Amino acid sequence: MKLVLLGAPGAGKGTQASSLAEFLHVPHISTGDIFRKNLRNETPLGMKAKSYMDQGLLVPDELTVDLVMDRLSEEDCQNGYILDGFPRTLAQADALSQKEKLDAAVNIHVPDEVIVERMGGRRVCPSCGESYHVQYNPPKQEGICDKCGAELITRADDVPETVQKRLTVYHDQTAPLIDYYDQKGLLVTVDGTMAPKDVTGAIVKAIQE
Ligand code: AMP
Repeated sequence: MKLVLLGAPGAGKGTQASSLAEFLHVPHISTGDIFRKNLRNETPLGMKAKSYMDQGLLVPDELTVDLVMDRLSEEDCQNGYILDGFPRTLAQADALSQKEKLDAAVNIHVPDEVIVERMGGRRVCPSCGESYHVQYNPPKQEGICDKCGAELITRADDVPETVQKRLTVYHDQTAPLIDYYDQKGLLVTVDGTMAPKDVTGAIVKAIQE
């Protein structure tokens, strides 16, 4: 099953992608995680992406598209994948549809005011990328990743000013993809304000219909 997850930053794409990848036995590919890993390792790509990410802007398509296409050509993606955070522009979506035949594009809908509240409580694992929320999706042990035991952190781009910028960028550049996939007959929309496991259930039901 080849899926893309759409939704504003903080809508729960990472959490859902992780559950779906486990359920469907396919890789979870997060462009944000790939960029953050490159940043940590101070690679040339990480250095180029840094200023965009710090400002809440999108990394240019020419840096992003080839990266994803290379990843999708790897062996473990041949039976499917969950794309989390890609595509984010019409140009990225076009590049993807030229190479890949998707099964569905899942739009996780969450109103802006809920997003802003959520981002303040988001904590992420700097080691494996797992995402938590202090109130809505806490780890079993406070501040520690359930999956790999690393100490959780607040993402640098989850500060309030950057969250606002990222939401504006989402509405300007990424939200048009909802219509794009609707016109292709691939769009599935779920209510992302439910508990994480109920959102997963709604997605699984919708993609199996
Ligand atoms: P995320 O973890 O998906 O919220 O991504 C964090 C940041 O990485 C974004 O704010 C962008 O700066 C960058 N990024 C992630 N995915 C993309 C993409 N598909 N296109 C451009 N920039 C991206």
